[in-house]
Amino acid sequence: MRILVTNDDGIQAAGIRALETAARRFGDVTVVAPANEQSSIGHAISLRSPLRVQRLDERHYAVVGTPTDCVYLAMHRIYSEPPQLVLSGINHGANLGDDVTYSGTVGAAIEGLIQGVPSIAFSLCRGSNFDACVPHIERVIEAALDEPVDRPLLLNVNFPDCSDGVTGFFLGSLGRRHYGKIVDERKDPRGGSYFWIGGPLVKHREEPGSDELIVRQGGVSVTPLTVDLTDYRTWQKMQGWKLISS
Ligand code: MN
Repeated sequence: MRILVTNDDGIQAAGIRALETAARRFGDVTVVAPANEQSSIGHAISLRSPLRVQRLDERHYAVVGTPTDCVYLAMHRIYSEPPQLVLSGINHGANLGDDVTYSGTVGAAIEGLIQGVPSIAFSLCRGSNFDACVPHIERVIEAALDEPVDRPLLLNVNFPDCSDGVTGFFLGSLGRRHYGKIVDERKDPRGGSYFWIGGPLVKHREEPGSDELIVRQGGVSVTPLTVDLTDYRTWQKMQGWKLISS
């Protein structure tokens, strides 16, 4: 099986090496990943700048671009036949709840799915023991291969600190996270203002079945995602709007 591995932390990150190790058990692995960190770049694609690709060896390519650029380039330039599985990660840090919309790790997996290839994003929420995630990644890939669903899968997988094992694998839904609504203003050496947004994470909403809660309780959260953002329930209700032609 042809497996494409990418990430958003950059090709030198420890997490992608652990993911490559796990992936090798399942087939031929090619790593096409950003040359520099691209965390929180989401599903961005570079349409206004050239993409430089450095071939490190026959299995590793560093791209000066986004995770989505990496998947796109791999599919249409590096591979002669498309990969059959796209794996993204292991991200250093959580990709839970609303945050998946910011995530470059998930962005790469979204691109894989849009190109019609089953894709899985992996993130480590606590600590940096990526090696301890490897057997769990293997189990997720095995399950995805053994029990296919009726269309290409897009999975978002988040690990707790796996150093002492995990309590199990649980189906999670995207929870809600709240950051402090802080815009921190600072001064540069010439007296000009600049800003840092985001601030610390202040609270999580306690939602049963949410990915956040699963990971907090020591489980591996597995969430199937879809890229169709249409709100079908509201769509139905809006059919009655005077604005809408019949
Ligand atoms: Mn990252």
